[in-house]
Amino acid sequence: MQNPLLELRRPIPFDQIREEHMEPAVRALLAEATAAIDAIAASQGPYTYDSTLGALERSSEKLELVMSLIEHLESVSTTPALRAAYNAVLPDVSALWSSIPLNPGLWRVLVEFSNTPEAAALEPTRRRFLDKTLADFRRSGAQLDSDKKEQLKAIDRELSLITTRFSQNVLDSSNEFEILVEDEAGLAGLPDSAKQAARDNAQHKGKSGYRFTLQAPSLTAVLTHADDRGFREQIWRAQNTRATSGEHDNRPIVAKILELRKAKANVLGFRDFADFQLDDRMAKTGADAKRFIDELRERTESAFERENRELFSFRKELEGESAPALEPWDVTYYAEKLRRARFALDEEELRAYFPAELALKGAFTLAERLYDVRIEPVSGVPVWDPEVRAYRLLDSANVELGTFYVDLYPRETKRSGAWMHGLVAAVPPAANLAVFCLNASPPAGGKPSLLLHRDVETLFHEFGHLLHHCLSRVSVRSLAGTRVAQDFVELPSQIMENWCSEREALDLFARHYETNEPLPTVLLSRMNAARTFRAANMQMRQLGFAAVDLALHIDYSPEKDGDVLAYARDILQKHAVAPFPEDYAMLAGFLHLFGHPVGYAAGYYSYKWAEVLDADAFGRFKEEGVLSRSVGLQFRDRVLARGDSQDPMDLFVAFRGRKPRVDALLKRQGLG
Ligand SMILES: [Zn+2]
Repeated sequence: MQNPLLELRRPIPFDQIREEHMEPAVRALLAEATAAIDAIAASQGPYTYDSTLGALERSSEKLELVMSLIEHLESVSTTPALRAAYNAVLPDVSALWSSIPLNPGLWRVLVEFSNTPEAAALEPTRRRFLDKTLADFRRSGAQLDSDKKEQLKAIDRELSLITTRFSQNVLDSSNEFEILVEDEAGLAGLPDSAKQAARDNAQHKGKSGYRFTLQAPSLTAVLTHADDRGFREQIWRAQNTRATSGEHDNRPIVAKILELRKAKANVLGFRDFADFQLDDRMAKTGADAKRFIDELRERTESAFERENRELFSFRKELEGESAPALEPWDVTYYAEKLRRARFALDEEELRAYFPAELALKGAFTLAERLYDVRIEPVSGVPVWDPEVRAYRLLDSANVELGTFYVDLYPRETKRSGAWMHGLVAAVPPAANLAVFCLNASPPAGGKPSLLLHRDVETLFHEFGHLLHHCLSRVSVRSLAGTRVAQDFVELPSQIMENWCSEREALDLFARHYETNEPLPTVLLSRMNAARTFRAANMQMRQLGFAAVDLALHIDYSPEKDGDVLAYARDILQKHAVAPFPEDYAMLAGFLHLFGHPVGYAAGYYSYKWAEVLDADAFGRFKEEGVLSRSVGLQFRDRVLARGDSQDPMDLFVAFRGRKPRVDALLKRQGLG
C-alpha cells in the first residue's frame, strides 16, 4: 500500500493523507526510531558527535514530523477515525519520548562522549545541546542508583494519579453546583445574552427558569452584572469553596502533592521543587523568581491602594456616604460600573476598523518593515480545506526561510482558539514549516470578518510565535525556533501585541471596512486609556497567585506553617481588595498548580515575567522608532533567529544592552 506519510516531501500532500495511513505509518516509524535508539545505546566507542547526539536527533525526526502532522490534522479537520488513529498511537509514542532520558545505555554513551576531546572542543551550539541533553537526563534521574530510580518512579506514578484526582474533584464539584432562578426579576442587571444563556441551560437540563453554574461565562456574568448582592455572594462563595468537602475534598490532596513534589526535587538533588523546575528556565532559581515578584508588588502597591479607594468612593457616589465596605463579591460588579462611567468605549464601533484580512496583511507588512523579509502567496499547494492559503517567507536575498499555512475561519471539525503550530523546525538551509490558525467570525451578509481589538492582538501574538519559528537559523534542530524556556517563549509573541496600540503601526492596516478611513485619533486614545483601567488590581491578582505558588513550592512546611489552605489564604489576602471569609479555599480549585504533575507549578510567575520582557524589549522600539528597521534587524538576529542556541538571558541582554527591568511594563500599565 502506498502510504504518503512514509515518503513525505514538500509540499506536504494534504490531499492524499487519509486516516487509514496514520496508524501504520506511526507504527513503522516507531519501530524505526526504537531500533535507531537501541543501536546508539548499545554502540561501543570511539564516540563522536555524529554517532551520539547527531544520531539521537536523527533517530526520531520522521516520527516527530508524522506525529506533528496527525496532531495538526486532529486540530483542524478531525473525524472520528482520525481521532481514533491518534488515540491509538499516542500512548506508545509518549512512552518512547519518556523512555529516552531513562535509557541507561544512552546515558552511558552520552557521558562517555562528553569526556572526549571532540566534546571539549564542540562549537557553542552543539556544546549547549550536549550540556542541555545531559541536564535533561539528570533531571529525569539518569545518574541515580537503582533504589533512587525506583523511588522516583513511585513518586511520579503517585503524582500523576493524585493530580488527576485533583482535576476530577474540581470538575465534579463544579458540575454539582447550580443556582436556579425562577423569576426574571431576580436577574436585574444581567445582559440579555446572559439571561438567554441561563434560560437555554435550564431548558437543556429539563428545568424551568434560569440556570446558573460555575462555568466561566455564567459565573463572570453574575459577578460582573447581577444587581442582587446575595446572588453574587452565593455564586462567589460556591466558586471559592469548590472541592472542599465530601467525596471531592481536595484539601488533603494539595498537601500531599506538595509533599511529593518536594520529595522528587530532593531525590534529584534540589533544595525544593521551585529550584528543580526553574533550573532550566530563564529565572534559574526560585529565589530569583520570588525577588522578581516582590519587586513588582512593591512597585504596584500604592496604585493598588489608590484604585481601591477610588472604587469605594465610587460606590459611595452611587449609594451615599453610608455605603458598606466592599465585599469580595462586590469588587467586579462595582469595577464594571466604574469602567462604564469612565470609558464610553464601544467595542463594536472599533471593530469596523479591523477587518480580519487587513489585520493579517498588517502583521505581514509589519514583519516585512521590521525584519527585512518578504511574504508572498504560494499557489497550487495541497491544503486540508479550500479556505486555507499558503505563504512563503523569504529573506532579502530571496532565500526561503519558511512556508506557512493560514487557516482563518471556524469549521465544525476545527478546534476553537488561535494558535501557531510549528510543523517542521528546520536546520538551515532547509526551510521551516508552520501553521497559523484563528477562529475569526466568518464574513457574512456582505460584511467582511471584523475583529475585536483584542482579537487583533491575538492574531499578532500568534504571528509572533510564527516568526520565532520561521526566522530560526539554529544549526541543531532540538534547539531551534520556539523550543525555548517556558519563561522566554512568550517574548516573541507578546512583543507583537505592542504594535496593535501604536499609531504608526495601526496606520499600516487599520481601515474602516466601508469608508477606508484610518482609525480616528479619538477612538485610539479612548482605546489606550481603557487598557490601563484598574491595571494595578489585575496585576496584584496575578502577583498573588505567583506569590502563593512560589511560597508553597519553596517555603511551606506543614510542621512550621500548619494548614496549607490557611497559609495560602493569608498570602492571597495581601493581594486582595476585600477581606476573605474564613472558608475561602481558592487553592482547592487551583488547576494551574495542582491539576497536573507539573503544569504551572512554581511557574505561575512566568506570565508576569514574560510581560516584563516584552514591554522592556519593546521599549527599545519606543526609544529608537516604533518601525525602526535597524532595531528590528537586531531583534531578528539576536532573539528571533537564535532559538535556544544560547542562554535566553544572554539573548535578551544582547538585544537590550542590559538585563530586563520592570519599568517599561509599569509605564505601559499607567503605574509608573
Ligand atoms: Zn503565546
